Amino acid sequence: MNQESETLPTWNLSDLYEGPEDPRIEADLHAARQRALDFEKRWRGRVATEDLQAGDLRRALEEYEALQRLAILPQSYASLLFSTDTTDPRRGALVQRTREMASSIATHLIFFDLEIGRVPESTWTGLVCAPELLEYRHYLEHERELASHHLSEPEEKVLEETANCRGRAFRRLFTELTSRMKYPLERKGQVRELTQSELLALLYDPDRQVRRQASEVLGQTLEHHAHPLHFTFNTLLQEKQVMDRLRGFSRPESSRNLDNEIPDEAVDTMVDVVVSNYDLVRRYYQLKRSLLGLESLWHYDRYAPLLSERAGLSFEEAREIVLEAFEDFSPRFAELARPFFERNWIDAAPAPGKRGGAFCAGVTPDKHPYVLMNFTGKPRDVMTLAHELGHGLHDCLASSQTLLNYSPVLPLAETASTFAEMLVFEKLQARLESPRARLALLAEKLEDTFATVFRQVSMFRFEQRVHGLRREKGELDLETVNRIWQESLQEMFADSLTLGEDHRWTWLYVPHFVQTPFYVYAYAFGELLVLSLYARYRKEGAAFQGRYFDLLAAGGSRRPQEMLAELGIDIARAEFWQGGCDLIRENVLKAEALAREIAKA
Ligand SMILES: [Zn+2]
Repeated sequence: MNQESETLPTWNLSDLYEGPEDPRIEADLHAARQRALDFEKRWRGRVATEDLQAGDLRRALEEYEALQRLAILPQSYASLLFSTDTTDPRRGALVQRTREMASSIATHLIFFDLEIGRVPESTWTGLVCAPELLEYRHYLEHERELASHHLSEPEEKVLEETANCRGRAFRRLFTELTSRMKYPLERKGQVRELTQSELLALLYDPDRQVRRQASEVLGQTLEHHAHPLHFTFNTLLQEKQVMDRLRGFSRPESSRNLDNEIPDEAVDTMVDVVVSNYDLVRRYYQLKRSLLGLESLWHYDRYAPLLSERAGLSFEEAREIVLEAFEDFSPRFAELARPFFERNWIDAAPAPGKRGGAFCAGVTPDKHPYVLMNFTGKPRDVMTLAHELGHGLHDCLASSQTLLNYSPVLPLAETASTFAEMLVFEKLQARLESPRARLALLAEKLEDTFATVFRQVSMFRFEQRVHGLRREKGELDLETVNRIWQESLQEMFADSLTLGEDHRWTWLYVPHFVQTPFYVYAYAFGELLVLSLYARYRKEGAAFQGRYFDLLAAGGSRRPQEMLAELGIDIARAEFWQGGCDLIRENVLKAEALAREIAKA
């Protein structure tokens, strides 16, 4: 099918609600609220006691999950609806409405987490091992750890109720600002207003002039909007500083590490190993510079394709490639992916006001997930589709877990997605005959890996530095943040690539810095982990599949370190992370060998 004439899929949210006016939305919110009130009446004061019984705690947890589920549905629906048109005020209002209701529900539940934290130690040790609580053991242990950072109940209540007009409000403002931003691009005297996705796609254009112009427009537009974006960022830096102080977190990233259930030391080890392998980035970009025949490489050359005649892929072709790759790995994988296409669980059509990028949203274990992306026909869009479907399959496999055990922690959340991308990469590569085409695709894969592993680690170090400096010196001016951003990324490239002036502004549109501070290292963690899992799959074949499915099906029901130990992986050891980096090195060497082969021919 011709790409231009193709109608791209949009999702159908009617599995959740009929529309924004569906009366069931209000009904569910009110029912959830009523259940929260009943829950509070029934359990307040009964948890943090010496004679708490395992059977009672289990009943409480089941009730808690049921009412949470009811509250999640309207919220998920509102945010999905909002993401395909963030300029529609009705959608924005519905998001706000469900968030305010969720906060009002949460205020009646805060006591529960606090009481779990206050169960006397002697009672607790007997309790968590009880067979009735086996399913919830990991959840309870983690709650207990979190509880040591809780404030008093009235304080927690005030924080929850005001969250929608401080942190969460600024995050929403960021989404609204960046989604509405138009990037004016001049071509032959005509100015076209591009969306962010359209503009970023031009950074992959074969024409250097186009890439340079796109990069300039990106920089200029971000500079133009720098004031509200920088203000938002600064406000959130300070909010985090205050919250960390109140909750007793020693380092800016400690709360993320606790949420991720990864010890600070394991994160430090991974980051150190990645930094000590920065030479791979430099080595690759030197190769790329010579392949492109350029005197010097600039930031807008990073994603320059090595083959200029790339045909636009249709969504139909993308679907076929992805399903075939999944089928080759395991028919079960393809089976799980098919309904996403057949039942409209994917929204792939770019549209004005639609959120940029891509995501997969798991709702609750008894509802299927949804995938959002902006398909433009590039081979990397096929990888993105595979990536988000990987998340989707992970959610589907974990759907036998209860709600509290459903979602994997962040560092494992990228396991299935990156693995799925790897499968599709192999498939795409097998379709290619010439060494030049293979090199071009390998280069694309390497660049994605660099973006996931090395770039995310330098972004993590950027965050560490700005959060650290904010704590030391107070509010940071724009120039300081720009400088730290340039330095943190330039040290990865050293002299293999120059980050020009317009690159200074590009931290301003990275959603993770605003939405989920320190999220970024989870990508590096996931990618390196998957590289070793993939190596194991190649070695073990079918024997690997069972253990892999078990890992995904476990969802968030167990500690990541424990689950990975069963696969023989020790995340505390530098050798493990170096093993992942060695596989990237192999690919860099492969690219160099292909380049030599082409030069000789
Ligand atoms: Zn992902």
